[in-house]
Amino acid sequence: KEQGPRMHPELLELYTVTDHVLGVGTFATVKEIILKETGKSYALKIILKKSLQGKGAMIDTEISVLSKVRHPNCVSLLELFETEDAVYLITDLAAGGELFDQLLQKGSYTEGDAARLVYQILLGVAYLHDRDIVHRDLKPENLLFSDKTESARLMITDFGLSKVLTAQNDVLMTACGTPGYVAPEVLQQIGHGKPVDIWSVGVIAYTLLCGYTPFWGEDQPALFESIISGEYEYEEEYWSDISPLAKSFIDSLLVRPAEKRPLAEHALNHPWFRAMLEQDMVTP
Ligand code: ADP
Ligand code: MG
Repeated sequence: KEQGPRMHPELLELYTVTDHVLGVGTFATVKEIILKETGKSYALKIILKKSLQGKGAMIDTEISVLSKVRHPNCVSLLELFETEDAVYLITDLAAGGELFDQLLQKGSYTEGDAARLVYQILLGVAYLHDRDIVHRDLKPENLLFSDKTESARLMITDFGLSKVLTAQNDVLMTACGTPGYVAPEVLQQIGHGKPVDIWSVGVIAYTLLCGYTPFWGEDQPALFESIISGEYEYEEEYWSDISPLAKSFIDSLLVRPAEKRPLAEHALNHPWFRAMLEQDMVTP
């Protein structure tokens, strides 16, 4: 009945694999599974080796990165099974779904809600950067809510494109990431490191507040040109009620050159957060 490869026998012994597909990404299908012993749900990310076509090193990267990550705002890898055809990653279940879908549903967020979300993303990014992990593909599709409640945590997932930097000033040269959220230096192939994630957080913050991305184009070349120009606006119609502090926060992240962008831990100190989060302020 099961399509694709036969599941790892030990996995099937320990877990019940449900038909509930949590999501489909570039390489993986993600299903809900239940640990028989406890009845607790987890996420099973199935990556078919044939779909990788020589990009197998990416799996190894993802595994080595994920297995080290333990933070409330990052999805952690709990177990791993491998067969000839596929790799099975068992992670925390983020039952609240993608920020992408919630954003589509809501249109945009209030400043308070946007600040709370962006703050959590930055806490996760600060943790990753502290371990020399650059995500490189931060976008609303890769940000998942821990559950369906109002107080759900936002968790960063999909470290497939990230890489553990070994040397301090190691520059990552591969063109990757997702148009719209990707930093100009990635498109220009002039190397990129941690600042590319800070740029993406800036794009995410902008998008959450108004419901559309700051850089735009009819087609991919036009979009790339828009990103490389680095020019964006706060259209009156959508931004007139949004505070100067919010705009100053975004402006502080969407800067070039990359070296001028703040570290994640510094971005967390922006007065916008102090103004918006008051009571529920958490320290990283
Ligand atoms: P890919 O590397 O193929 O893009 P992702 O890790 O991004 O795979 O997963 C694809 C989609 O599956 C996500 O966008 C999300 O909707 C869903 N998903 C992934 N991990 C989880 C999880 N731990 N809990 C719930 N849904 C998940
Ligand atoms: Mg993904």
